[in-house]
Amino acid sequence: MQGPATPTTPRECLSAVFGYPAFRGAQAEIVERVIDGGDAIVLMPTGGGKSVCFQIPAILRPGVGVVVSPLIALMADQVSALRLLGVEAAALNSSQTAEESRAVWGQLVRDELDLIYVAPERLLTDGFLELLDRLHRQNGIALFAIDEAHCVSQWGHDFRPEYLQLAVLGARYPGVPRLALTATADQLTRAEIRERLALPEAREFVASFDRPNIRYAVVEKDREREQLKTFLEGHRGEAGIVYCLSRKKVDDISAWLVGQGIEAVPYHAGLDTRTRTRNQERFVREDGVVVVATIAFGMGIDKPDVRFVAHVDLPKSLEGYYQETGRAGRDGEPAEAWMTYGLQDLMLVRGFIDRSEAPANVRLIESRKLDAMLGYCETAQCRRRLLLAYFGEELDDPCGNCDVCLDPPETWDGTVAAQKALSAVVRTGGRFGAMHLVDVLLGRHTSKVAQHGHDALPTFGVGSELDEQGWRDVIRQLAALSLLRPHPDGHGGLQPTDAAREVLRGDRRLELRRLRPRTRRGAAKRRQPAMDVPAGAEGLFDALRALRRRLADEQQVPPYVVFHDATLRTIAAARPGDIAALLEIPGIGAAKAERYGEDVLQTVSASP
Ligand code: ADP
Ligand code: ZN
Repeated sequence: MQGPATPTTPRECLSAVFGYPAFRGAQAEIVERVIDGGDAIVLMPTGGGKSVCFQIPAILRPGVGVVVSPLIALMADQVSALRLLGVEAAALNSSQTAEESRAVWGQLVRDELDLIYVAPERLLTDGFLELLDRLHRQNGIALFAIDEAHCVSQWGHDFRPEYLQLAVLGARYPGVPRLALTATADQLTRAEIRERLALPEAREFVASFDRPNIRYAVVEKDREREQLKTFLEGHRGEAGIVYCLSRKKVDDISAWLVGQGIEAVPYHAGLDTRTRTRNQERFVREDGVVVVATIAFGMGIDKPDVRFVAHVDLPKSLEGYYQETGRAGRDGEPAEAWMTYGLQDLMLVRGFIDRSEAPANVRLIESRKLDAMLGYCETAQCRRRLLLAYFGEELDDPCGNCDVCLDPPETWDGTVAAQKALSAVVRTGGRFGAMHLVDVLLGRHTSKVAQHGHDALPTFGVGSELDEQGWRDVIRQLAALSLLRPHPDGHGGLQPTDAAREVLRGDRRLELRRLRPRTRRGAAKRRQPAMDVPAGAEGLFDALRALRRRLADEQQVPPYVVFHDATLRTIAAARPGDIAALLEIPGIGAAKAERYGEDVLQTVSASP
């Protein structure tokens, strides 16, 4: 530690260094456990506050805290953020020059660092382990923090073989506490972390995965671009991510958005490194940039003020979806997770799975995951409740902050309609798409109907009780319920499944959801309150933002590393007159007060 005073207790450290008045959730317990030398497995959602769980013990315990992270791109920002707080931190990774690494090496040998961030492959080199041996003998090692610990899981998509070798740390450095941290919640991953990182004694800390500040909403897809544009118009000037499944769609949508006057940039693995880096930098450093991306984007991003995450394609699993939407609102301010979804999306993903060459058990798992995803899209119950239940957590009351809670959809007895639609599928031979099925149900004399003689079927024209959109809505829900599946030829035809027979026989009743009138697309358009600067303080808030931008540019760090929006808003409202008053503001610790205090006070006093 450098700077005015060296804290001695965790609470003091939290307030003096990080500027926060109180620990959140299990943070205090975790910190205490590690300071006492115990191991811990920490499961907290993104934005839950995992970092201080190892940063504070690293500061307070003798020796350096070693943080293992696969996200090299993140290290630089984390290190700069810590330095601005007066914490001695550095990183070692492959993007540095030999000279830079030598300097860090020297700091380690001289025991000058509180924290060292290192990629797993680097940590596991003989040279680095020998250095750690030496530190272990001399000054001790404060702790090992293994971030993104789910990377040990061979079943997950982030598997890193080097993570398995991190198990050696326990035996090689006895007495050094180890923490494994992740935002992946499921039981299987938890057990794998314990076993593969050799943490038999570790205490488990499982935080609630609820992110109450994120508003969840799903809208039925009709014209996705227009729907997306309308959604983005509610978020003018705010930063967010739009996820698509394919690179081509990323390119198309981002180009279209730019044409509509929205500041959008594309991001996917097919772009050259320079373009990718530049687009990511713009997103992180500028205000209000929208990134249109494949899922490749986000894992290395720590931006706390992402205000929305939009999906225009159907994610393959709820785990992935929850992780992606969790990138919104890490600062705790209102944020939105929005998705537009329709029959085509469902057919596409279902078709991928059906035609994949993967072993049967893998396809079965993928298919179950898709079912869970579709259940989320089609639910008439609180979406947050459903999401949390999927991760084994119960929410007593409906959340009041999802589209279903805010604007409950009507449900109706769709049994007869389902029978009509299913029999249209059966009678036409189980190979036609939704459009043709709707024509048959509505009794339309199209050329295709005439060509196949479908006007002679008993189901022809039996569906006058619903309009075209109504029938499409029924068919989509039948497909989501796995009563219909894509024809194996992949041309968009629908087949009945075995389960459809129960419905046709009248052995199963179906409760369906009524489509929202098209003009009233749920709650997604309604703006959320909060984020407000008190009346009269807007001028000061803007002046403080400009100051933050200047300070951030001078130090070449993202603006949120200097101050969060919430901190600026509190300053604008409280108008502190001296350093003591400034220190009362959450988010301002001793180092920030010293470094920026004069500039902030000047800005406050210069503003009417
Ligand atoms: P995670 O690593 O779990 O995604 P972070 O450690 O980045 O989360 O913390 C998320 C946000 O919460 C950060 O902006 C951090 O400054 C803030 N934060 C963490 N702990 C506290 C606390 N005790 N009080 C207030 N804010 C906190
Ligand atoms: Zn809800």
